Amino acid sequence: MKYVDSHAHYIGRRFDKDRHKLFTDMHKNGVKYIINSTSTLELNEGVQLAKKYDFVYLSLGDGCAYTCGPEGDKYISDEILDNMIHLAKRNKKIVAWGENGIGLNRLELVNGLQNQIYWFKRQLEAAKQVGLPVIIHSRDACQLVFDILKDARLPDCGYGKGMLHCFNSSAQMALDYVKMGYLISISGIVTYPSAKHLVETVKKVPLEKLLIETDCPYLTPEPHGRKDRNHSGNLKFIVDKIAEIKGIPPEKVAEATTSNAMSFFNIK
Ligand SMILES: [Zn+2]
Repeated sequence: MKYVDSHAHYIGRRFDKDRHKLFTDMHKNGVKYIINSTSTLELNEGVQLAKKYDFVYLSLGDGCAYTCGPEGDKYISDEILDNMIHLAKRNKKIVAWGENGIGLNRLELVNGLQNQIYWFKRQLEAAKQVGLPVIIHSRDACQLVFDILKDARLPDCGYGKGMLHCFNSSAQMALDYVKMGYLISISGIVTYPSAKHLVETVKKVPLEKLLIETDCPYLTPEPHGRKDRNHSGNLKFIVDKIAEIKGIPPEKVAEATTSNAMSFFNIK
């Protein structure tokens, strides 16, 4: 079976010691491509990573959490945004914009909401300008994010306007997103006993609208411990769970999500 990890974070300390060894073994674990989500402070490392490994592609964007801190303008500004647009236009391995969106799961995020909305919208415009699909982060803000995306009227980039990363709200919301032209990305959360509505979502969303992701180093799927460091080799546990929920063979899930991802990210 072959898998595509539609969203991962491989830059950073938690992978510094053994990233090369992990990446050397990726094909043995069936991992065909990885889309590394690259924040504004990681642009150089992200570009280098994609240069070094053929199977690594990039998305780039400013996650909402950074925008709100006291040093928010270190993470996003007009200048940084222009630089990202420039990079996205000339680097063929940049295949999506994001993650970006809104999170309201901490007090400083709630306090910084207006700032989050401002930079979210600016980045949606940037994605439109460079013609890339978006990777959307939405945490405790599902109606707000939905409304902003509805207003943004992003173009379809070939296989959808964007993906809802680590989707974890209602099945109805997932279906509304699908109707609007978005894909739903399923993470290790689906393997947790608490993920009742995500199970419902997986049941109802057609296979051709699903992607899979690890969001590693976070969200390690069961049977591993949730606090263990996650990596793309664990995608098979997500695939197995989706197969179990849908009552179809895992091969079919792997094949469909791989083909969806290649179309969505326009990887030939
Ligand atoms: Zn992420």
